[in-house]
Amino acid sequence: METPLIKVGVMAGEEIFFTIEGNYHLEHSPYNFTGECSARKSEMGIILQCGSEKWEDTEGFKLIPSNPETGKFILHDVTIGINFHWERKEDQVFKGSLFFLLESGNLHAINALSVEDYLMSVISSEMSATSSMALLKAHAVISRSWLLAQIQKNQSLQTEHQTYHTTFRTDDELIRWYDREDHTCFDVCADDHCQRYQGITRATTPVVERAVRETSGEILAFNGLICDARFSKCCGGVTEVFENVWEPVNHPYLQKMVDNYLNPEGFSLDLHHEDSARQWILGNPEAFCNSSDKNVLGQVLNDYDQETNDFYRWKVVYSQQELTELVKNRTGIDFGMVINLVPVERGVSGRLMKLKIIGTNKTMTIGKELEIRKTLSKTHLYSSAFIVEKQAVEDGCNFILYGAGWGHGVGLCQIGAAVMGDKGYGYDEILYHYFRGAKLERRY
Ligand SMILES: [Zn+2]
Ligand SMILES: [Zn+2]
Repeated sequence: METPLIKVGVMAGEEIFFTIEGNYHLEHSPYNFTGECSARKSEMGIILQCGSEKWEDTEGFKLIPSNPETGKFILHDVTIGINFHWERKEDQVFKGSLFFLLESGNLHAINALSVEDYLMSVISSEMSATSSMALLKAHAVISRSWLLAQIQKNQSLQTEHQTYHTTFRTDDELIRWYDREDHTCFDVCADDHCQRYQGITRATTPVVERAVRETSGEILAFNGLICDARFSKCCGGVTEVFENVWEPVNHPYLQKMVDNYLNPEGFSLDLHHEDSARQWILGNPEAFCNSSDKNVLGQVLNDYDQETNDFYRWKVVYSQQELTELVKNRTGIDFGMVINLVPVERGVSGRLMKLKIIGTNKTMTIGKELEIRKTLSKTHLYSSAFIVEKQAVEDGCNFILYGAGWGHGVGLCQIGAAVMGDKGYGYDEILYHYFRGAKLERRY
């Protein structure tokens, strides 16, 4: 099999300006392009203009580099950091082909390039150059697996047309989960929604290039199918299962797993039981991700994150008034004064899947984990693996949340994997530790 191409949706707009360096030609035609060009929506479809030459087409355009090694293009005014305080526009440089396609009335600029080139770019921008080779290779394999699974899914969605629900709401229960929705005219977008991608605007890191090259074509598979290889920052000592976080589908390679080479002593690991969860979360069990080694943490966390390395076990305190306002703002539901938070159902890692919010006006159960984390924080709580203690104060009570871990806890634990790499485990050992029963396979 040849190295697959991935189609990345970089930007959308009424009119898109770009500059071609080297020569590009229209697919299946002899027309050559170079220099400043634009694409814009027209009544019939899309108008492509380069210098004084103009083409119009209902379907769209595919511009292919005449020499894939040297051909480059620059997209102007790409918005980055959408909805973040640092949102701004910048020019970005890309290698590979450039497509202009219409989808539900929007004009999209799409970069089609080899999966391996794409991985070098995204892993260079998200991982530190000080990471161990084992950690970088493990990341390359799970990113590649996710991508190839995404390309497959995209092809099957175009033939199936299924409807898919992620929200279940009654009067006293709201259960929803958040997964990546699917794009239709490309495989992934260039934003944080899928994975941040800026083409070759910034240089790739030599160690990342090596990690990608040395694992080229390698993915994780289970029974011959590419794994949906998830990862999160810190599992908290035990990983969660897929169906407790997203849709109710069991993936045999995403199971409950102690993040260590042996079970920690003195703890019951039936973490869906309230007593065991309490002992676990208030305790300090040994685990790969139970680390405060700055050199190791710096491989996974950026500088800002390193200032807060209390993610393995953490604590948040709200006054009753604060909690009441927070829940009202975040849910849009008036619970009256919040008088209690009651765990209803926990997953295998101790993460709450359902939490009952009891107010003086209304009582409601919410889930799954991300809904709970969004409801109880201005951004999100580190995780939903927490216990609640009420502390009486003069004018009511405080709510103290004691928690464990950072993120959904499914699949690879990034801090744990960084520690394993530092201890000398190979990338295959790291992957087989987190994805039990999965196999490394070379697909091309
Ligand atoms: Zn996306
Ligand atoms: Zn972990």
